[in-house]
Amino acid sequence: MSETILELKGVEKYFGDFVAVERINLSVKDGEFFTLVGPSGSGKTTMIRMLVGMDKPSRGDILMSGERVNDVPANRRPTCMVFQSLALFPHKSVGENIEFPLKLRGEAKHNRKTRAIELLEQLHLSESYYSKKVSECSGGERQRVALARALAFDPQILFFDEPLSALDYRLRKTLEKELKDIQRRTGKTFVYITHSLEEAMVMSDRIAIMRKGRIVQVGTPDEIYNNPANGFVAQFMGEVNEFRVSRKDSQWLEDTETGAQYPAPPDSPVDEGVLIVRPERIRLLSADEKADSTFEGVVEHQYVLGSRVQYQVRVKERALLVETMIGQPFGVGDSVSLGWDADQSVLMSE
Ligand code: ATP
Repeated sequence: MSETILELKGVEKYFGDFVAVERINLSVKDGEFFTLVGPSGSGKTTMIRMLVGMDKPSRGDILMSGERVNDVPANRRPTCMVFQSLALFPHKSVGENIEFPLKLRGEAKHNRKTRAIELLEQLHLSESYYSKKVSECSGGERQRVALARALAFDPQILFFDEPLSALDYRLRKTLEKELKDIQRRTGKTFVYITHSLEEAMVMSDRIAIMRKGRIVQVGTPDEIYNNPANGFVAQFMGEVNEFRVSRKDSQWLEDTETGAQYPAPPDSPVDEGVLIVRPERIRLLSADEKADSTFEGVVEHQYVLGSRVQYQVRVKERALLVETMIGQPFGVGDSVSLGWDADQSVLMSE
């Protein structure tokens, strides 16, 4: 996984005076699962439309395997799009849908069927689906058929436009893992867009985070989780505790609003900014436990999140969020000690 298969150089897209996408430089490696994530209106759809050839950039170049493709129409690009709306033929059979690209290529009938059944197997659908109508399939099955059809095109890059967003939570979670597994097994490059960073984290080798038409951070899920480039990225990842701080000395930061002191993350060059501590990085401490900083508080709310529990703890004028495994012996109204270690926090300059 080293060759660059997709490269964007200074790509911009304007609609009249409106700048939808700006100064995009990006490269995706062959065989990579790459995800563009951003809130509504951040420019994801605009990007993917340019990548598949439904739209042209206003400025900059898009290269696929080193070739400039700005003027190459969608049907002549080595890519295929898997839509949120699926775009399957509902009244045709699953087999006919998957064979459609093979038919376009003029493959013999027998070969088409063999390949379609191979693809069904790859997507964990039994051979009996071959003659089933798409209209008789469930949402999750249709999603698999759409992917099988996209793979039948044998593209170098598959683009996905929020394919799972209409599905219920459990099915989405199953398909996230399946998609990642299929991508790994086929070795194809997947470029995926979603507004859910959580979804991106599960599947992606690397993620680009978009905001207002710009890319604000590119990295592995690990890098983004542990070192968010700014407050936007940190918040986008879910609820966080944020403290506006200024540096007191090499080891301590002072809360500019409350005067409370927090341990400074090691090696941070920042003297003034926002300290971010994730709820799961704060510990509820028993009497003999220690942390670099400890605070006393009272549990105000308790929310069960499946196998985890989130507490809102009042510490003087602040309400802190703490997330732990379920089964902790604390409830609303209890006094608790909580704390975190310096290396469990991130200090950012904005
Ligand atoms: P969502 O998650 O809601 O689909 P998105 O991140 O995909 O959002 P885009 O659809 O790419 O965002 O839109 C980015 C910005 O460009 C938005 O402000 C949108 O209104 C604007 N935009 C997109 N297409 C056009 C168009 N054809 N004409 C004018 N403005 C457009």
